[in-house]
Amino acid sequence: MSKYINTNWDVVVAGGGPAGFFAAIRCAELNPKLSVLIVEKAVQTLGKVIISGGGRCNVTHACFEPAQLINFYPRGGVELRGAFTRFQPADTIKWFESRGVKLKTESDKRVFPVTDSSKTIADCLREAAQKAGVEVHGSTTLLNVDKNPKGGFKLEVKKEAQVFHLQTKKLVFATGSDSKTRELVKSLGHSLEEPVPSLFTFNVKDKRIDGLAGVAVENVTLKMDSVTTQGALLITHWGLSGPAVLKCSAWGARILFDKKYRSPLTVNWLGDYKLESTLEVLQRSKEWKESARRRINITPAFSQIPARLWKQLTEFTNNKNWGDISKSEMQKLAQGLTAGEFMIEGKGAFKEEFVTCGGVKLSEVDFKTMQSRVVDDLFFAGEVLDIDGITGGFNFQSSWTTGWLAGSAVGS
Ligand SMILES: Cc1cc2nc3c(=O)[nH]c(=O)nc-3n(C[C@H](O)[C@H](O)[C@H](O)COP(=O)(O)OP(=O)(O)OC[C@H]3O[C@@H](n4cnc5c(N)ncnc54)[C@H](O)[C@@H]3O)c2cc1C
Repeated sequence: MSKYINTNWDVVVAGGGPAGFFAAIRCAELNPKLSVLIVEKAVQTLGKVIISGGGRCNVTHACFEPAQLINFYPRGGVELRGAFTRFQPADTIKWFESRGVKLKTESDKRVFPVTDSSKTIADCLREAAQKAGVEVHGSTTLLNVDKNPKGGFKLEVKKEAQVFHLQTKKLVFATGSDSKTRELVKSLGHSLEEPVPSLFTFNVKDKRIDGLAGVAVENVTLKMDSVTTQGALLITHWGLSGPAVLKCSAWGARILFDKKYRSPLTVNWLGDYKLESTLEVLQRSKEWKESARRRINITPAFSQIPARLWKQLTEFTNNKNWGDISKSEMQKLAQGLTAGEFMIEGKGAFKEEFVTCGGVKLSEVDFKTMQSRVVDDLFFAGEVLDIDGITGGFNFQSSWTTGWLAGSAVGS
């Protein structure tokens, strides 16, 4: 890779992540006459792709209905509705498969390369960029942007120790959640929603889950403030994780940030069961001859609650038999099963995927083209926008979609 960067460009893409690569490749393939440059601050491009999905890269999610797909985005769903009619997961799958990457869909609809290696995806993107004639410079940071009075931009970039002044007709910001670069975007006149983490686990210290790390419940309902989520739950050494928790952290990202990650959490260990229907099942255990003489804490009334968890949830019954349970104890048990009160006391890291919500205000962007409504010739793609999805391939999908749309607009 050359140490020098040419001065004049048709398109400069700031950020060599998935959104930047998609924008650059699309635009160069659409219009091979254009000179297209990616500047990437890190030594290596596509850093997050490489570490994504536990090293496997969950490329997208096999949900092909835009109206359904948008329900997986706590922020940005409404704006993505139209965008997904133009480029959606089926198009992502086609895009990679037409470039020789075989993909597979797992039972939970997450899509991965058959190699189970994120390197396959990164290699494909790098190769496609090279074939399309996109010039890529690593260790190159966009430091400053000035709007030219007659259109286009003057850029200051630093490659290693050297500073270059470039001219470009069009500029795409695909810089992810980088905090310094956010200031650059602001300096151009855009407003940004403040960044806060999304997709994290909950720290919960409670004797009912103590020592149960690794125990999973298939379907629980969680309530935190105004947020309700449902799905599998995993008990960890530090508290709670699993899809229900991650969804709760994503939909409740701003609420939890404001509460400094301390909040009551209500857990319905029985998913859809209500108090009344739970009481009916408990009453049957009390009356049924087979169980009446058995201890409550070692005779679970619900098969979906693992025995070790059941034992700790029913500890307060003090080795009583089902036949001896009082009305108030039964009420307390049903309450604890359907609306157990816990306390979130901090957030943990979800290493498989981590995203930030916040970014460029969506009302300031035209989602047909990803063009700024504030500054001419300026475009946005990916996580730099105030868009984030829950775990499952949705975050990459919004990067592919917005990158492709931005690339289509600058290339046409
Ligand atoms: C551990 C982890 C695992 C993940 N796994 C998944 C997954 O399996 N599936 C999924 O859908 N999502 C996953 N995600 C989320 C996903 O990685 C992001 O949503 C996605 O990478 C966003 O793409 P982007 O191109 O917008 O931003 P990024 O990937 O963050 O790329 C932006 C790039 O811009 C560069 N940059 C910033 N400022 C400048 C500047 N001034 N000049 C030059 N370059 C600059 C940055 O160095 C960066 O390389 C994961 C995230 C993490 C952290």
